Amino acid sequence: MPHRPTRHKFRPPWRASVLTLFPEMFPGPLGLSLAGQALDAGLWALSTHQIRDHGIGRHRAVDDNPAGGGAGMVMRADVIAAAVDAARAEAATAGEDLPLIYFSPRGEQFTQKMAHELASGPGVMLLAGRFEGIDQRVIEGRGMREVSIGDYILSGGELAALVLLDACVRLLPGVVGSAESLAHESFETGMLEYPLYTRPREWEGRTIPDVLLSGDHQRIANWQTEQAHKITTLRRPDLLQKRSTTKR
Ligand code: SAH
Repeated sequence: MPHRPTRHKFRPPWRASVLTLFPEMFPGPLGLSLAGQALDAGLWALSTHQIRDHGIGRHRAVDDNPAGGGAGMVMRADVIAAAVDAARAEAATAGEDLPLIYFSPRGEQFTQKMAHELASGPGVMLLAGRFEGIDQRVIEGRGMREVSIGDYILSGGELAALVLLDACVRLLPGVVGSAESLAHESFETGMLEYPLYTRPREWEGRTIPDVLLSGDHQRIANWQTEQAHKITTLRRPDLLQKRSTTKR
């Protein structure tokens, strides 16, 4: 596959707008390596919004006791709404209407398919929760899509935001050198990836499978598909089931 130029000057950057109590966490790891280079090159842009700027009173409170009692604190609907409205107004001046995602263990599971869907749009607005979460009314009132990154509890949505952004940014045109290196990855084919090898040819008595050194591209491709199928059957049979019903 020919290597296409990596700059897309005519294209506005893919926009990430993050609402958080900890803007210092961004870009964090996304300021390095591929995502960091792409950020510097203007392929994507990041803005953060401090939720506390919209807090109540002298102490800029953002949370309060849960109605009905119980442990922990809940982020207030009025504070979150004010933060969302301000971030949306700012995006609107740039002509952008970004889908609003609230990270929550109750949300739909983030997948490679969702990463593609979001990466092909104008960008995302991400709300990172803290404490026990946010008031239900603002989830409904501002039309938030609830997204989970997995069945475990984080102490805040910021790491979830970094995970989602990393997965989306590497799909933007020009971020990863060749489109081909994306095409074979786990989940793209509906299967997990086949095993990988590189030099040295022999390491601690272990050799590289002969077929990979044969130079026979058809045999190599067949072997890789076979291996991918084998490992997927073993570890994630659910993927093969999905694959037979929804062929990409
Ligand atoms: N009380 C909640 C957990 C709150 S954790 C519950 O039982 O469901 C605090 C914040 O961390 C959440 O508001 C959310 O924004 C974030 N968070 C925690 N786990 C997450 C996950 N698996 N996926 C996405 N966001 C998560």
